This record gives sequence, structure tokens and C-alpha cells, in this order.
Amino acid sequence: MTLTQDFSLSDVLELPPTAAASSLSELQKLIDDERERCGKVISLPPDKFNDAQSDEVRVRFTGRKSPLQDWLKSLRNFPAEERKEAGAKINQLKAFLEVEVERFVTLCKQAAEQQRLNNERIDLTLPLPEVRLGSRHPVAVAAQQLLEPLRRLGFTVIDGPELEREFYNFEALNIPAEHPAREMQDTFFIASQWVLRTHTSSVQAHAMMERGVPLRVACAGFTYRNELDLTHVPTFRQIECLVVDKGITLAHLRSTLNAFFAEVFGRPVKLRLRSSYFPFTEPSAEIDVQCQQCFGSGCRSCKHTGWLEMGGCGLINTRVLESCGVDSKVYSGFAFGMGVDRIAMSKFGIADLRSLYEGDVLMSRQLALR
Ligand SMILES: [Zn+2]
Repeated sequence: MTLTQDFSLSDVLELPPTAAASSLSELQKLIDDERERCGKVISLPPDKFNDAQSDEVRVRFTGRKSPLQDWLKSLRNFPAEERKEAGAKINQLKAFLEVEVERFVTLCKQAAEQQRLNNERIDLTLPLPEVRLGSRHPVAVAAQQLLEPLRRLGFTVIDGPELEREFYNFEALNIPAEHPAREMQDTFFIASQWVLRTHTSSVQAHAMMERGVPLRVACAGFTYRNELDLTHVPTFRQIECLVVDKGITLAHLRSTLNAFFAEVFGRPVKLRLRSSYFPFTEPSAEIDVQCQQCFGSGCRSCKHTGWLEMGGCGLINTRVLESCGVDSKVYSGFAFGMGVDRIAMSKFGIADLRSLYEGDVLMSRQLALR
């Protein structure tokens, strides 16, 4: 038996020599010794006893093989007149041992339990294991950063279905079945009449038909085209804004773009609207922002043009208004849209657009820290 402190429990727990008493005086000596032995043990600090050791104490003093049992048996050797008193003395000792030893064993168990709890105590000063928090995807971050200024400009942020009826993706936006504009987009046709939306402009049609006019909405969502190279991926995010009201002109579009890009870049930036063609707007323009690296003098990022192409815009084609049930003689509107991924690319300095979609956690985490 090993003890957790420098005394030998075996000495005190050792059974006394089997001296069968045959007289009261002999018995008294045995009882006194036993009391003393027990007293020695139960005066030890309870926290020095583990569970096995405290059990051993209990068995030694009150168990079936304790000396008390032998003494009770030896009563028959006593003179008849001493037998009763001897029995009473043994029982007295028995009662004493049972109470005192039980009390002591309980204290030992409590101390051992406390010891276990103490050992389990959490040290708040220890360094924590690394907790890996997730981070938002850079494109999702860029989308939110683009939507925020639009909210402040009074746009309601909406979304529409990504699996779209051909009607909303094409016909409603003045792109009839045989229109060459459908060739501009490598569409994923899913089933008859169903496509993965090739642009968020389909949300325009939904908004006008379902919400009615006047209208001021923005949408940032996934779009799908079958293309893949350095600057194109099959799944990309677009942000789209639409305003329909009475008397909307190019001036409203221009001033909204000025305010929007000033918020995006954190300072007023020079914009250029370059005449272009989109089926759903007339007139249409490409939106160029002055290169923020060289401020127009020409550098690698702007391919020495001094301008960066950001997206497209225009006044909503009256045919689109009409096919969405809006009276084009009363209402007019503008729309502009751009690829969020492109903006994330220039914002985070990413060279290959595809790297945004390779699930590279390290890159996402690094970008999220900015
Ligand atoms: Zn430049």
C-alpha cells in the first residue's frame, strides 16, 4: 500500500496480535489499543487518502475481519459474571468506531473528489488552442461594400431567382429568340424555357412586373455563363440597379453613378460614359472610371488607357418598359450594372479571377483581414 504522505498507514492498520482476551482487564487493554490506533488514523489529514486507502481504513476497523469480531467470539472464554460487561464494552467500541470511521471516510472521499475537481480546473491564463473563425468570401465582401452606398442612396436591395425562365432573362429585356444578342452570352440552358440567369437584369423584369413603378431597386446576385479564362468564370456576381419614375433622364443616371463611385472609392472619381449597345437600354454606355493607380496618365492596370471599364448603363429601352407592363409614355428609367468579381479583383489586387473560385481558404482568410 502506498500513501500520499510520509507515514506508514500499514503500521496503524496492522491487525493486533490475535490475543483472545479472557478477562475484563485483558479486554480493556485491547479496546484501549484499538481506540488509540483508530484515533491515530482519523487524526490524519483526510486529503492524504485516496478512495482505495479510505476504504481500507473502513474495512480494517469496522469490517467483518476486524478484531472486534474475534473479541465477540471470545466472550465465551470469559467468566460468566464478566461476560455481559465485556459484551457491552465491545459494542460500545463498535459503535464508536462505526461513527468515527464513517465520518472520517466521508471526509476522505470529499477531499479526494475536491482533489479531482482541482486537477480539472481550467487555467484561464493558458493560451487557447487556435480557433479558426470562418471569413466571408472576398466577392461577398465586395458585394456588400457595393450595396451599402446604394442603400444610402435610397435603393431597396432585392433578389430574384437564379434558375430563370427564358422570358425574364431574354424576351422581357428586349432579347427575342432570334436576337443576335443571345449569342453574346454563352447561356446554360437547363430545360425547355429554363436557363441559369446570364445577368441580374432579369431581376429588373421581375421588379417592374411584381412591384410596379415608381421603383428604385438594387440586386447583387450570382449569374452564370459558360466561359472560363483569366478574367471570366462560369459563376460570377453582378450588381444591378434600376430606377423607374416619371421624368428620369441621363442626368439622373450620371449623378447617381457619380455619387455611387465616390462612395465606393471613398473620394470623387472621374467617370466616362462611352457609347455602347445593350438590348435592354437605349441609349447605352460603358462606364469607365479613371484609373486609380495612375490617375489617367496610363499604367499596366489600365492597359495604358488611363481608364478602367466598370460596367454598363443606359436608359431603359421603352420596349423593356412596355413588355414589363410599364407605360413608357409616362415613365422612364435608367439601369446600370457591373461585375462584382472584377471590382473585387481590382480592390484586392487579384491577378487571376479564377483564384476567387478555387476554394483557397488561405487566400480568403488573407483577404478578409484587409
Ligand atoms: Zn492606370
